[in-house]
Amino acid sequence: MSQNIKSMTQAEIAQILKEMGQPAFRAKQVYSWLHKGVTGYEQMTNLSKDLRAQLAERYPFAVPTVVRKQESQRDGTIKYLWRLSDGNCVETVLMRYHYGNTVCISSEVGCPMGCAFCASTLGGLVRKLEPHEMLDQVLFTQIDSGLPISHIVLMGIGEPLDNFDNVMRFLELVNSPEGMNISMRHISLSTCGLVPKIDELAKKKLQLTLSVSLHAPNDAVRNTIMPVNKAYPTEQLLDACRRYYEQTGRRISFEYAMIDGVNDSVENAKELLHRLKGLPAHFNLIPLNHVEESPLKPSSRNAVARFQKTLEDGGITATVRRTLGGDIDASCGQLRRKYNKEHNG
Ligand code: SAH
Repeated sequence: MSQNIKSMTQAEIAQILKEMGQPAFRAKQVYSWLHKGVTGYEQMTNLSKDLRAQLAERYPFAVPTVVRKQESQRDGTIKYLWRLSDGNCVETVLMRYHYGNTVCISSEVGCPMGCAFCASTLGGLVRKLEPHEMLDQVLFTQIDSGLPISHIVLMGIGEPLDNFDNVMRFLELVNSPEGMNISMRHISLSTCGLVPKIDELAKKKLQLTLSVSLHAPNDAVRNTIMPVNKAYPTEQLLDACRRYYEQTGRRISFEYAMIDGVNDSVENAKELLHRLKGLPAHFNLIPLNHVEESPLKPSSRNAVARFQKTLEDGGITATVRRTLGGDIDASCGQLRRKYNKEHNG
């Protein structure tokens, strides 16, 4: 686990302060300041100068800086490209829904999963994010935009379950009453289907929403677009979803990117109905966002509507995701990709 003070729980901060001869109540002060988004210890005005100097020496921390900020003229979606302390960049998207401002955060720099339609994975995985680097995306998006954040989706760059321990710590931090206090019920975590990690997550019985990027009704189709399916085929994945539901009582949300001629036929929808029988589920149908480097194309409006109707007639609720920020490269990994291309040739 990272030694960065912003990745520590309040109890861990209490421990280091104790070792520095400080009273226990200081931990709450330090923790609250950090989670308010201070940029340095000098802003922690209720601590002595001496303690601030000692902390700055022993536990230095940096905050991300805005490299690019794009605001959609259509729907107010804001996309941030942040520079982390080691120079790597990650994206965060702020979406304004009627139920609250939602941030979509990245969990890794790049992604190792190799999905054929996704811009985030084109350069592979660079590294996993530390807990505080996920927290800072939420915190500094809120501070920079001036918009209070109530919801989080882990649907940006990276595979959250490939960075399991750091993501769990991030959830603990962002959920803490002395921190941002964001309710687990307002958090969604999306995975491409790492079966053992889904089981590990189920054991934690968190009240978050698990989203599974299914994108296909069977192995024949899924193998062609998602390499992870070779390790964890659809049957294993759906079994893990059933176990997840049994353990947590939480309905699974399935993401389904609609790709022209690949996974969008009525037969595909019927096969899904058959295979998901008995599993309470919700489908998010996402018309594919075209990625320059990929030959895959989005399904037609008609194909999406037919697919949705087939699922709903069969008793599975399915919504077509509104595309926000279409004018600002807002889908997964597109902005970082563009920026890296411009700067690295
Ligand atoms: N690695 C996790 C988190 C990424 S979430 C996961 O796979 O779930 C981002 C969602 O957008 C995933 O469902 C992903 O499959 C989907 N996605 C990626 N590229 C896309 C594209 N070009 N068009 C539509 N959806 C896309």
